[in-house]
Amino acid sequence: MRPFDYTRAHAPADAVGAEARIIAGGTNLLDLMKLQVETPDRLIDINHVGLDRVERDGDGLRIGALVRNSDLAADPAVREGWPLLSKAILAGASAQIRNRATTGGNLMQRTRCYYFYDIDAPCNKREPGSGCGAIGGNNRQHAILGASDHCIATYPGDMAVAMSALDAVIEVEGPAGKREIRAADFHRLPGDTPQRDNELQSGEMILSVRLPAPLGGRQIYRKVRDRRSYAFALVSVAAVVVMEAGRMATARLAFGGVAHKPWRVPAAESLLTGQPPSPELFDRAADAVLAGARGQGHNDFKIPLLRRTLGAVLAEATQESK
Ligand SMILES: Cc1cc2nc3c(=O)[nH]c(=O)nc-3n(C[C@H](O)[C@H](O)[C@H](O)COP(=O)(O)OP(=O)(O)OC[C@H]3O[C@@H](n4cnc5c(N)ncnc54)[C@H](O)[C@@H]3O)c2cc1C
Ligand code: SF4
Repeated sequence: MRPFDYTRAHAPADAVGAEARIIAGGTNLLDLMKLQVETPDRLIDINHVGLDRVERDGDGLRIGALVRNSDLAADPAVREGWPLLSKAILAGASAQIRNRATTGGNLMQRTRCYYFYDIDAPCNKREPGSGCGAIGGNNRQHAILGASDHCIATYPGDMAVAMSALDAVIEVEGPAGKREIRAADFHRLPGDTPQRDNELQSGEMILSVRLPAPLGGRQIYRKVRDRRSYAFALVSVAAVVVMEAGRMATARLAFGGVAHKPWRVPAAESLLTGQPPSPELFDRAADAVLAGARGQGHNDFKIPLLRRTLGAVLAEATQESK
């Protein structure tokens, strides 16, 4: 690891606009620094700025950026009103990592592409213009949707997939003031600037995440991965379905492990809304989600896997209770 300066922030204002890299739980940043994938000269530690509470916000909730993943998943209000979020967090990492990892850091975690972590390999995300080792290389974990000729990495997190389906809003502050970004719009596609993972600008910090009023219904987070624990999603499906008189009155879907961002497809949700459930309809929704999907060789299996996982999740979510 290279030497760096360390400062402790005592309020968000100390970190906003600071010419330093923010460190929160450190569970991703420190790994990247040890491997010299990231080499910041200065760190600013935000663990003592507050922003560590889950609070009521009208009918919704406001989650501080420093709330630990374990605390958020266990929060009684989250478990009751937004169980999808709790389930998605608990599907991620390990208990020890969740105890340390924060809401802001989780949103900002970087891809798990093997070539990104290997400083001897070409990687446009780590070193723009150096090429992409995963295209034509080992790409089992990589994107089937929204990829570019410059980068086919996936966003690896679980929590943000649930936040996207729940229409959460991320509150950020920078030198120009505060602004809000929809969780579904926070992460970006790689295009020809894969070095940028998300819409946060230089000097901006995540302050909190707001959840709108609970949706009710059945909320399912299904994560398909190589192991039950300590493994990133190959495909994940976050679903909220509210049934009324045998029809889907509300259908919200988001997908993880398939693109550079949590993937939401309004056309698939519209197709389901107002309709009685059926395997044929679920298959048409999968067609809408997979429009333009393209495998890279090793990850071709993700296309049928997403279709099957979506079908199974929708069947479970629409099952009449006995
Ligand atoms: C072995 C292992 C397995 C894992 N498995 C999973 C998994 O299955 N699912 C999953 O979702 N995650 C998984 N993770 C990732 C883990 O969830 C993240 O490392 C963690 O959430 C990052 O949070 P942190 O607070 O430690 O962030 P840090 O490491 O402190 O920071 C990460 C990044 O966020 C930035 N940052 C932090 N806070 C803010 C803020 N408030 N505003 C702006 N920028 C900020 C930092 O500058 C840095 O770039 C795994 C991690 C490991 C090591
Ligand atoms: S997929 Fe993206 S992160 Fe991975 S090597 Fe290619 S450019 Fe780098």
